[in-house]
Amino acid sequence: MAGPVIAVIGAGFSGTLVTLHLLRRCPPGTRVVLLERNRRFACGQAYATDNANHLLNVPAARMSAFRDRPDDFLQWLRGREGEDAPGPQSFVSRGLYGDYIRHLLNAELGRGGGALALERADVLALDPQDGELRLTLDRGRCLRASMAILAVGNFPPEPPPGLDAASRAAPWYRADPWAADALAGLDPDAPVLLVGTGLTTVDLVVSLLDAGHRGPIHALSRRGLLPRIHVPGAPASPPSTSLPTDLLALLRLVRREAARRAQEGLPWQPLVDSLRPFTQDLWQTLPAAEKARFLRHLRPWWDVHRHRMAGPVAARIAAARASGQLSIHAGRIRATEEAADGSVTLAFRRRSDGATQALAAARVINCAGPGCDYDRISDPLVRHLLATGLGRPDPFRLGLDVTPANALRGRDGAMSRQVFAVGPVTKGAFWEMTAVPDIRRQCETLAEHLAGLIGALPVAIPAPA
Ligand SMILES: Cc1cc2nc3c(=O)[nH]c(=O)nc-3n(C[C@H](O)[C@H](O)[C@H](O)COP(=O)(O)OP(=O)(O)OC[C@H]3O[C@@H](n4cnc5c(N)ncnc54)[C@H](O)[C@@H]3O)c2cc1C
Repeated sequence: MAGPVIAVIGAGFSGTLVTLHLLRRCPPGTRVVLLERNRRFACGQAYATDNANHLLNVPAARMSAFRDRPDDFLQWLRGREGEDAPGPQSFVSRGLYGDYIRHLLNAELGRGGGALALERADVLALDPQDGELRLTLDRGRCLRASMAILAVGNFPPEPPPGLDAASRAAPWYRADPWAADALAGLDPDAPVLLVGTGLTTVDLVVSLLDAGHRGPIHALSRRGLLPRIHVPGAPASPPSTSLPTDLLALLRLVRREAARRAQEGLPWQPLVDSLRPFTQDLWQTLPAAEKARFLRHLRPWWDVHRHRMAGPVAARIAAARASGQLSIHAGRIRATEEAADGSVTLAFRRRSDGATQALAAARVINCAGPGCDYDRISDPLVRHLLATGLGRPDPFRLGLDVTPANALRGRDGAMSRQVFAVGPVTKGAFWEMTAVPDIRRQCETLAEHLAGLIGALPVAIPAPA
């Protein structure tokens, strides 16, 4: 069988969704090969959790995989759970959402037709060769494709500043909060230190509480900011009919509006949500220096107001703090000292008064959020892309450098006509490319764009071996 082949690398939410859209839009004869290194397709890191208390941080009503069928997820829930199905404003478990995405992929496979192939493979390299792309896979395999989409998603966090190489190799340290050994073998009465105070930390606290952990839990970040709580309700109207593209002016406008709402007894959350449809445009119009200022000064505040905790999760975090089991600290790690029993004492400089405070822990887990500086990611495919110059990090170290049409930019800045990217790896170009509502739109747009390009391809490529 001859025909164009599109290789989608990574079968998390982004890779799965773009695959589904490609299959709907590409001309007959096009084959899509979805490659995933893990056993489980269609869940990725976010939706692979088996813990029923790891909740989505977006209400069910906004989690349909398809923009033109906003009720798709709710209908699937109703089909599965009947009368007891969660309502539109519920925050369902992320594992359940993974089941939904897998259901969509299985339904596509069930339709048959041979246009879709799933391949369990670790893609190690991607090279242009004779007008095609050659993907080097593990176990000595390879795949030829006309185009490739990088949907490689989130990587483990970067090492926390202040922890030296010896500490990072110590038995009490865990570099990856999602790895199976992150909490394994932990004494339930021992103190634990989580580095970071964002949503990853929140997940780990929930996991610890669910596992019956009784010991103290410390969480430390530079500012000690915890994600805020969701409130029910639709987004408000934007604060003005024309939003300023100057960062400071926008910040002042939002603050003024939030204060006005507070006076009227209204929550600020719908105001932040009202900015979402405009965030990508705002990011793209900001000059580079303003973007850098945003990332330096405002990002931590934006993150905690924009990416919030579901109510039930926030209630557990508040209860753990009130009982004294969970303590949040703000400061910078200064030094570590290992004790004879294998535990560690970590000294940090308190943000509030500059004093040094010591925390004892049996385990230190890095919960600093996904690593996105591609110069520091050790993944073989990433290293290969950068070494060959096929890709380059974006200037703000948020992911890979892509054009507004999601085409990869090479080391020389030139735009690839064959390699594209979707999902959080494209944050440098769009900023707001983390949550499902943004990614689903991006996947749809890219699939439409590639379907158009496929028609213009010069040669038919043989089907993969
Ligand atoms: C813990 C967590 C919770 C989240 N919760 C929510 C939420 O509640 N609501 C929401 O809207 N968003 C949430 N998000 C945002 C989330 O980033 C996106 O929704 C989305 O899941 C990102 O999907 P992705 O496919 O781009 O990345 P990932 O889910 O990281 O998937 C990437 C996939 O690519 C595979 N892969 C990578 N490299 C290779 C390679 N070389 N070869 C083969 N396979 C490869 C990986 O194994 C992985 O399966 C959450 C994110 C995280 C991390």
